[in-house]
Amino acid sequence: MNSLLAHLNPPQLAAVTLPPAHALILAGAGSGKTRVLPPRIAWLISTGQVSPPGVLAVTFTNKAAKEMQTRLAGMLPINVRGMWIGTFHGLCNRLLRAHYRDAGLPQLFQILDSADQQSAVKRLLKSLNVDDEKFPPRELCQFINAQKEQGLRPAAVEAWDDWARKRVGLYEAYEAQCQREGVVDFAELLLRSYELLERNEPLCRHYQERFRHILVDEFQDTNKLQYKWLKLLAGGGAHLFCVGDDDQSIYAFRGADVGNMADFEREFKVPNLIRLEQNYRSHGNILDAANAIIKNNPTRLGKNLWPAAGSGEPIRIYESYSDGDEARWIVEEVKALQRDGHARAEIALLYRSNAQSRALEHALFNAGLPYRVYGGLRFFERAEIKHALAYLRLIANTDDDTAFARVVNFPARGIGARSLENLQDAAKAANSSLHAAIPQVAGAGGAKLAAFARLIESLREAAYLPLPELVAHVVDLSGLRAHYQNEKEGQERLANLDELINAAASFVAEEGTPNQDGEITGEFGNDLSSFLAHASLEAGEHQAGEGDDALQLMTVHSAKGLEFNVVFISGLEDGLFPHENSLSETRDGKSGLEEERRLMYVAVTRARQRLYLSFAQTRMLHGQTRYNLPSRFLDEVPEELVKWLTPRAGKGGFAVSSAPTYPATSRRSESSGGSGFRIGQSVMHAKFGLGVIINAEGGGSDARVQVNFGNAGIKWLALAVAKLEAAN
Ligand code: ATP
Ligand code: MG
Repeated sequence: MNSLLAHLNPPQLAAVTLPPAHALILAGAGSGKTRVLPPRIAWLISTGQVSPPGVLAVTFTNKAAKEMQTRLAGMLPINVRGMWIGTFHGLCNRLLRAHYRDAGLPQLFQILDSADQQSAVKRLLKSLNVDDEKFPPRELCQFINAQKEQGLRPAAVEAWDDWARKRVGLYEAYEAQCQREGVVDFAELLLRSYELLERNEPLCRHYQERFRHILVDEFQDTNKLQYKWLKLLAGGGAHLFCVGDDDQSIYAFRGADVGNMADFEREFKVPNLIRLEQNYRSHGNILDAANAIIKNNPTRLGKNLWPAAGSGEPIRIYESYSDGDEARWIVEEVKALQRDGHARAEIALLYRSNAQSRALEHALFNAGLPYRVYGGLRFFERAEIKHALAYLRLIANTDDDTAFARVVNFPARGIGARSLENLQDAAKAANSSLHAAIPQVAGAGGAKLAAFARLIESLREAAYLPLPELVAHVVDLSGLRAHYQNEKEGQERLANLDELINAAASFVAEEGTPNQDGEITGEFGNDLSSFLAHASLEAGEHQAGEGDDALQLMTVHSAKGLEFNVVFISGLEDGLFPHENSLSETRDGKSGLEEERRLMYVAVTRARQRLYLSFAQTRMLHGQTRYNLPSRFLDEVPEELVKWLTPRAGKGGFAVSSAPTYPATSRRSESSGGSGFRIGQSVMHAKFGLGVIINAEGGGSDARVQVNFGNAGIKWLALAVAKLEAAN
């Protein structure tokens, strides 16, 4: 017991040993909120106040759930694997698997991730002959998810005009399609399990009586439905223990509602509000910078946070002229850090948008530095993996039209668009799945479809195989392996397919055992369907080389809750971070800029010892060159905390009077066509004034340079004509 309570400060100790009652732990980043959850659970169990099955704990990611289980297992000699610890999605999936009949779902229902959902919507629009310009699939998905997150089924959605009524009609048709195909999207997992409990009183009472203590991490980012779900489960007198930080609420765009914190306090008359004010993570300068940034948000609950460590090093800021150079500078800096003994896994490269990872990955790859990308194109989202999973999904459920459509002609087996249209019509007429409609299609197309049906049948006959062998069998028999062997750049895809077999093997080793909660195990397809659910839920966390010492690349959103010794935040440019969409946007009267600032606060507070901030004058993004000003958030960092690695940029503009300096190894050698000018050089123009060369094209008499003249704008100049002089 004592060891359980060791290393906790007084308010943490108070939180861990609170007598059973509702509690809200409201505290800033790095103050040990997440850290109090395992000892709290262990204390409740070891003092006999609850048994392990009586605990429900909600984490923000699957990774965090695993960590919590590991820490708990180190504290108590109990089987943590059977405990209900997971994300909202994971827990709802578990509930629906155990009670699929009551929930009106097939036993082997499949989960649609967001890309699957979009293609399901596309298919729906096509089958209904709806113009997808009028109803873009992406927006329709957002609409559907937003309704579900408010707990609204189509019949409950208000619509005032024809267009809105039509949209609700599409929502309804989408639901029917999902039901027919036996698939659920992410929002549906939550709504369906909420409705299951709400409508099935005995079942609801069972769980209400079972879960005596409900703990929630990252509570500030719960949405309305998640909060209602928690309230329902706690309705039998369970105690809610929620931890959160209003300054880190960064998912409003997905329906998260920071107002849940105040609602919780009021509705549950929470008697215990505990604040943790000591930050154990970051050195003082980093914390001061974070506090100075977040102070600019007018609507906050307000918290104090002081560092446990000394002030540490200054925050380093670097200005580069292009994203490529920013990436090369990061590579050089990382190499230097390595020489100083920093482990790569303790260095994180954070960015605001996924697309930014490309330039970084390119430079890291060239330098031979191992790295892992979280998010972005995750392992389970890669095309070849999704193809293999689609075959597996058809083994579990032949009515899964999304899976069917994905692989019916992949690898190519000569099934043309015409045959597929006929098949779709036949399925629509018979109100059946595509697979079931195959016998209705005549002619040569019909014969090819029938051959595909036989392939699926023979794959299904192999379903008795242990999961990893089944996956290997599918990769071979489907023709995927042969297809990628013949493809020029197929090697990496083949490696990924092999990695899928490995993933299945480790999944079975870790999770394939029966558990104590009455979930069906050992029956046909159970391992398969839980593996498929795992693939949908845990995308990105099975990337190759998990244990390797690799740099950690991720968006700021996916860095929430994590910490690293060294953090680089790149792309600090207005329009990128803060994101341009946020600058004009307001939501519920709150500005999008405030959410961006919270995101910046999250980013800065990930760092323990050293923080780098960088920005580029020009950046290629989505195929366009963009010219941005330094992020306004840079101005919010007090000057005394900062060390500029390049001459300081002027307020609201670039340091046009000086070219950035580069490490010797990556000095740019480009000169503009032998003109004597080079990129990055400062120049003077009679009319536009002082500028810096940011790009060059052509040569000889055709040489052109692009110059950033600050206030006078960015211009292309023909050197043969323009009167341009070197400025230093
Ligand atoms: P975030 O808001 O970013 O999620 P958090 O409040 O959940 O942060 P934790 O991740 O729990 O904070 O803790 C931050 C770091 O401080 C961790 O490395 C943790 O081990 C350490 N820490 C927390 N409390 C203490 C303590 N009492 N003594 C020593 N280290 C501590
Ligand atoms: Mg945390």
